[in-house]
Amino acid sequence: MVPFATFNLTVIKTMSQGTLYIVSAPSGAGKSSLIAALLKDNPRYDMKVSVSHTTRASRPGEENGVHYHFVSVEDFKALIEQKAFLEYAEVFGNFYGTSRLWIEEMLSKGVDIFLDIDWQGAQQIREKMPNAKSIFILPPSREELERRLNARGQDSDEVIAKRMEEARSEISHHNEYDYVIVNDDFDVALMDIKAILRAERMKLDKQYSRHHDMIDRLLD
Ligand code: GDP
Ligand code: ADP
Ligand code: 5GP
Repeated sequence: MVPFATFNLTVIKTMSQGTLYIVSAPSGAGKSSLIAALLKDNPRYDMKVSVSHTTRASRPGEENGVHYHFVSVEDFKALIEQKAFLEYAEVFGNFYGTSRLWIEEMLSKGVDIFLDIDWQGAQQIREKMPNAKSIFILPPSREELERRLNARGQDSDEVIAKRMEEARSEISHHNEYDYVIVNDDFDVALMDIKAILRAERMKLDKQYSRHHDMIDRLLD
């Protein structure tokens, strides 16, 4: 019994990989705001959000390399050829993709990574990285979703109408996710997402890589 336990813990000791969190939601549900608040409240904790490549035009206030890497369709296709993406998908008529190398490098350094990606990307990531945890953010109602898209004031009426149409299809995939959060009151939703992260950090493998010396001493 003891040798088996020791073997397991030894294996775990070598795996202090970061956790990959997939966050999806219909556009306007609040996933960018929640991820931004999470990172802002945890300046000491090692977590980062992945900056996707996209072929969509930048919105006012969006910076290249900060919100997205804005690229042409031609460049995006060249990146697909080079196998630069862990996943990519066409969303609302534009291409979006997650950089493979950056994710692998960050996870190997023990950094937790957030992917703000759609359900198609989530399906591809689950296939490739079964340890990824996925979170779906629901708005409290369709009316509130539309109100938020309008209040954000960054998309044209036509784009908002298209996103409202797509919302039903995105929401229909909520049952493929590990966790579901309702973003009605923002602070409650933020507490909920923090609770998920906190529980994940208490999992045996994470605790063991953090506290293996202490646990070894306790077993002496
Ligand atoms: P938002 O929905 O208002 O945040 O609008 P965005 O234009 O930022 O994102 C458009 C859609 O593309 C959303 O469904 C995102 O989840 C998705 N998306 C963003 N980045 C990626 C990515 O790297 N890969 C995939 N598959 N989807 C992405
Ligand atoms: P997403 O990234 O999912 O498209 P955003 O984070 O851009 O969504 O949020 C859409 C808009 O709704 C933003 O203007 C944001 O400030 C607002 N918002 C987000 N969460 C809430 C909430 N719980 N209550 C009211 N407004 C919210
Ligand atoms: P927006 O154009 O409003 O920034 O994003 C629209 C949608 O694209 C959002 O639902 C967002 O999650 C998704 N998205 C952004 N980046 C990626 C990505 O790299 N991959 C995938 N699959 N979806 C993405």
